[in-house]
Amino acid sequence: MTNSQPTICILGGGFGGLYTALRLSQLPWEHQQPLIYLVDQNDHFLFAPLLYELVTGELQAWEIAPPYSELLAHTNVRFVQSAVQQIDPQQQQVTLADQVLAYDRLVLALGGETPLQQVPGSADYALPFRTVKDAYRLEERLRVLETSEATKIRVAVVGAGPSGVELACKLADRLGDRGRIRLIERNGEILKSAPTFNQTAAQKALEKRQVWIDLDTSVQSLQAQEMTLRFKEQTDTLPVDLVLWTVGTAIADPIRTLPLPQNDLGQLLTEPTLQVQTSPHLFALGDLAHCPEQEGQPLPRTAQVAIQQADCVGWNLWASLTQRPLLPFHYTHLGEMLTLGEDSAALSGLGVQLEGPLAFMARRLIYLYRMPTLDHQLKIGVNWMVKPLLSALANHE
Ligand SMILES: Cc1cc2nc3c(=O)[nH]c(=O)nc-3n(C[C@H](O)[C@H](O)[C@H](O)COP(=O)(O)OP(=O)(O)OC[C@H]3O[C@@H](n4cnc5c(N)ncnc54)[C@H](O)[C@@H]3O)c2cc1C
Repeated sequence: MTNSQPTICILGGGFGGLYTALRLSQLPWEHQQPLIYLVDQNDHFLFAPLLYELVTGELQAWEIAPPYSELLAHTNVRFVQSAVQQIDPQQQQVTLADQVLAYDRLVLALGGETPLQQVPGSADYALPFRTVKDAYRLEERLRVLETSEATKIRVAVVGAGPSGVELACKLADRLGDRGRIRLIERNGEILKSAPTFNQTAAQKALEKRQVWIDLDTSVQSLQAQEMTLRFKEQTDTLPVDLVLWTVGTAIADPIRTLPLPQNDLGQLLTEPTLQVQTSPHLFALGDLAHCPEQEGQPLPRTAQVAIQQADCVGWNLWASLTQRPLLPFHYTHLGEMLTLGEDSAALSGLGVQLEGPLAFMARRLIYLYRMPTLDHQLKIGVNWMVKPLLSALANHE
């Protein structure tokens, strides 16, 4: 250790990193209180499952992307806004854009990126949808199209996993009769690994909104206002105003270049305790980690997994610095939820299956409960209760 007060450095302030920091700040350190740094390139956390609600204006950025300064105000966690450039496990230090941090324990939670190099033209003509900045870029493009003379707005959403389906429904609701939404999927079905109930509800929601679904179809290339698709042996070039890319998750450079055990996807291999294999002072969680499979299945890359892992990493950091035994991580699958347009959703889990407005309410309540701090829960909870009352009053006048 570098001094009597150990330093824990957490890289990435998403579901994995922020929730680990919050967990650490609740643990009984007594006389061994460590210095805890949380590093993120942005000044705000993002509750990504609610990002789609920015497209329809159902929610605002402050509700789903609160600043770290607010979330960490009542903790002893020091927030550093900076981009991680390099990690040196030998020297136990991290190079940020503007400083170098030494650590005794390091938590790797930088998540993933949307790979935009998958077909010719995708980096230039497709938009990712992963961050608040992406949502703002989409908003700008939609405003330009909505204020143009065009009678139809043609949007292609690439990938019919949860992100593609949810985005297609929200876009269809936002654009109404003017929208021509195409959902393009390489496989023969949408939401390949979702529960059948959610799959069926999503299919109905897409049909109701007249979203055109191209199955067994891959994007060959993108050009300005055109895309080339391949269906079976046939290739077609179609006009398009906007392409959204939701396929794939890539691991960021500072992780991929680390001399540590990784799988084919570039995820770091961990022990059951979420310590990186061969490096007990490093912990990895969330989208960039591959922890030993449970029941033969790799864990999904979801917020649900990252939040549960954060609890375990927080505990194990504390245990490793206070000479206690570390615990193995066990994942409990609680279910899956989808937003399917404005005021509607589908949910299956723990023996419950719901769709429509009831599922919408349940999804909101579950996400409210999952928000990182009680202060933020109260702030948005009150807003979510008051908003419908105010709009009912306004409609009444
Ligand atoms: C649009 C969308 C919807 C989703 N919906 C759901 C859902 O409904 N349910 C569900 O369970 N999961 C959902 N997910 C997946 C879920 O958000 C991820 O699995 C989860 O966020 C992974 O947590 P993480 O901590 O690994 O990464 P993240 O939460 O992505 O956090 C990574 C953090 O690292 C920071 N970072 C990255 N690189 C650097 C760098 N070089 N320097 C400094 N900081 C950096 C980022 O700014 C970010 O804050 C969704 C994801 C998206 C994009």
